[in-house]
Amino acid sequence: MVSEHASPLAALGGVDAGGQNVHVAALSIALARRGHDVTVYTRRDDPELPREVLIRPRLKVVHIDAGPASHVPKDALLPYMDRLAEGIADDWGARPPDLVHAHFWMSGLAALDAGRRPGGARVPVVQTFHALGTVKRRHQGSEDTSPSQRRWLEPAVGRSVDRIIATCSDEVFELKAMGIDPAKVSIAPCGVDLQLFAALGAPAPRPRAHRILSVGRLVPRKGVDLVIRALPLLREAGFDDVELLIVGGGGDAAVTGADPEARRLSELARELGVENQVTLRGQVPREDMAGILRSADAVVCAPWYEPFGIVPLEAMACGVPVVAAAVGGLTDSVVDRGTGLLVPPQDPSAIAAAVAELLADPDLRAELGRAGQQRARTRFSWERVAAETEKAYQLTLAGSAGTLLEPMEGAAL
Ligand code: UDP
Repeated sequence: MVSEHASPLAALGGVDAGGQNVHVAALSIALARRGHDVTVYTRRDDPELPREVLIRPRLKVVHIDAGPASHVPKDALLPYMDRLAEGIADDWGARPPDLVHAHFWMSGLAALDAGRRPGGARVPVVQTFHALGTVKRRHQGSEDTSPSQRRWLEPAVGRSVDRIIATCSDEVFELKAMGIDPAKVSIAPCGVDLQLFAALGAPAPRPRAHRILSVGRLVPRKGVDLVIRALPLLREAGFDDVELLIVGGGGDAAVTGADPEARRLSELARELGVENQVTLRGQVPREDMAGILRSADAVVCAPWYEPFGIVPLEAMACGVPVVAAAVGGLTDSVVDRGTGLLVPPQDPSAIAAAVAELLADPDLRAELGRAGQQRARTRFSWERVAAETEKAYQLTLAGSAGTLLEPMEGAAL
């Protein structure tokens, strides 16, 4: 695995640490359990990090020196990708893996570079984009801080890799629009840790009659402001004893006000006169997340766009209904009126109406929660996602070697 900015060992909730970190960690663990030898290559962003960390049998993380040994925003990492590729190729030495799986477009560049070195073995590359520059640009316009080279390098990665794993059906259409042949695209969604996220267990305490919850990196595109804008509308509908708990942001920067997005959200809440209903909780460690999810009447995910979205799966696994914008992966994971309510994107009144419907109807909440739990358990376990990913690996290897593989017990990735 190559995951340039998103280490499986990082704390989650900061601007650049979220779903990709979870995905790479959980998928790697599930693949190691299935008998593969997995190495995750990521950039060293702290001088204290050891070169190698053994996570469990068959799974290690290797930190490669590529750029400063400190946090560098992901949009400033492109110049270090050749160094990352070199470090990966050096680590392989004379024993390259059977296959390399890159996460995010820049990891794709490094993986292709490492896997196609003149004189070296050609290592097949599987790519998961996690997010696409075309979609980001469409929504963020001039606010998009991606390096300008992403415009042509990302499609070039898509064309050059052996196979792409899209995380949702919507992404397949986006890839096609980028000129990528759908025949080389497989779909495997993200999964959810069903040990950690379950309906059984104590909910965290809550201060008001109702709690709605927003969880995620504190970046504008997650649309947390839209949920704040729904609060006055909920009041008008008679629901005034509602807390909006906002989880996310690096460390406690959201709580101290050091985080600019947190400041923007607090100011908005003040302008709308709902500041006493909004709690910015900051970063929450994985092990506390399920209790917080269980304490909510509904989890609201209102992003402008979403390549997948693990939070709704975590909410569903905890038996909590989800109100989600009908974009990207959320239309695959959340079943409208089955496990939650889908609403049009960027629409605070639709969010307010959906939340009001749920708050008014405990039976509906329970029914959607039960169905969500079942859907998460049957469709989105990491074991199942790993099995689907393995199928994509097998197709890749069959394509590049021209023969079908034997069962991959013990194969190296
Ligand atoms: N998360 C966390 N603590 C926080 C904020 C987020 O553990 O304070 C986790 C959250 O539970 C989820 C992931 O970060 O597992 C966010 O993933 P998602 O796919 O929803 O969003 P992304 O970060 O990929 O945009």
